[in-house]
Amino acid sequence: MEFADKLEKLLPEGQVLFHEPMGRHTTFQVGGEADYFVQPMERQVAPVIRLCREEGVPFQVVGNGSNLLVSDKGYRGLILAIGANMGQMELEGSVLTAQAGAMLSSAAALARREGKSGLEFASGIPGTIGGALYMNAGAYGGEMKDLVKEVHAVTRDGRTVVYTAETYAGGYRTSAVRRDGAIVLSASFALKEGTVEEITARMQELRRRRQEKQPLEYPSAGSTFKRPKGDYAGRLIEVSGLRGFQIGGAQVSEKHCGFVINKGGATAQDIWMLMQHVIRTVKEKQGVVLEPEVCCIGSFEDGEK
Ligand SMILES: Cc1cc2nc3c(=O)[nH]c(=O)nc-3n(C[C@H](O)[C@H](O)[C@H](O)COP(=O)(O)OP(=O)(O)OC[C@H]3O[C@@H](n4cnc5c(N)ncnc54)[C@H](O)[C@@H]3O)c2cc1C
Repeated sequence: MEFADKLEKLLPEGQVLFHEPMGRHTTFQVGGEADYFVQPMERQVAPVIRLCREEGVPFQVVGNGSNLLVSDKGYRGLILAIGANMGQMELEGSVLTAQAGAMLSSAAALARREGKSGLEFASGIPGTIGGALYMNAGAYGGEMKDLVKEVHAVTRDGRTVVYTAETYAGGYRTSAVRRDGAIVLSASFALKEGTVEEITARMQELRRRRQEKQPLEYPSAGSTFKRPKGDYAGRLIEVSGLRGFQIGGAQVSEKHCGFVINKGGATAQDIWMLMQHVIRTVKEKQGVVLEPEVCCIGSFEDGEK
C-alpha cells in the first residue's frame, strides 16, 4: 500500500490534504505546498509519526504558523498541524489544562473570565499552546516557563514523555521540548487568584502597547530576530540604517525595526534574503551576529535550513 493510502486509513476521510499551500497556515502568508497536511486529534499524533518513520517520510510539526517561514518550494513530507482538532481547555481551581492546539489568546481569555491571573502576558501572542511551549514564548516580563505544571508530549519516535516544571527547563526562546524535538500534546498550568477587573486592565494595557509599537496591520512572524545579550535587535537594525529597507515585498518595518513584514506580495525568498541582508549588515556595522527567532522550513536559495 502507498504511504497516502496508509495515512488515509489512520485518519477520517477528508482529514489528509495533498499539495496544501502553506501560505494559508502562516502569519507571514507565504510558503509553497506541503506534500501532505494533516490536522490530527490527540490520539492520532503518535500513530501518524510512527507511520512517517516506518515509511521514511519526513514530517514537521506546526501550530498556528506565527513564528514560521516556509520556503516557496514548500515541504517535501508531511506537515502535522496541531490546531483546531486539539483545542480543548478546562480550568479547575487555579489549574488550566489545555490541548496543544488551543490558542494562547483563548486560554488567556478563559483565565480572565474566571479571575485567574498569569496568562495576561500571553493574550496578544498569536500562537498555540504547543508552539508557545516549544519556544517558551514570552512578553512583558512573563514566560511560559513561569506557569508550567506539566507538559505531555511524544518524542519523534512515538514515545510518551512528561515534563515537569523543573524538567521543562525553559530558557530564552527555548525549552526541553525544543531541545528534544518533542511534540506537545497537552499541558497544565498553575495560575493565581486575581480579579477580573485587574486582569482585564492588564490585558488592555498590553494590547495598547502592542498596537502602539508593533506593525500589527501587516503579516509578520513577530520579532524576526532574537534579542542579543544586553541589546535589542530592533535598535541594532535601526542604527545600521535599515529602517524601511525592502527586498521585493519584504520590508524591515518602519514602525518597529525588529519586525520583518510582508508589505504586500512578498515571497518566502524575499523574506529570507532580507533576513540574510539584515544579519550581514548588522554584523558589519555593529559587530553583532543576530540570530533568527523565526523557524524556517524547507530550502532557500542559499542552502537548506
Ligand atoms: C504579531 C506577532 C506578535 C508576536 N509576539 C510574540 C511575543 O510577544 N512573544 C513571543 O514569544 N512570540 C511572539 N510571536 C511569535 C509567535 O507567536 C510565538 O513564538 C508562538 O509561540 C508560536 O506559536 P505557533 O503555534 O504559531 O507555532 P508555529 O509558528 O506554528 O511553530 C513555531 C515552532 O514551534 C514548533 N511547534 C508548534 N507546535 C508544536 C507542538 N504542538 N509541539 C512541538 N513543537 C511545536 C514548530 O515545529 C516550530 O518549530 C509573535 C508573532 C506575531 C505574528
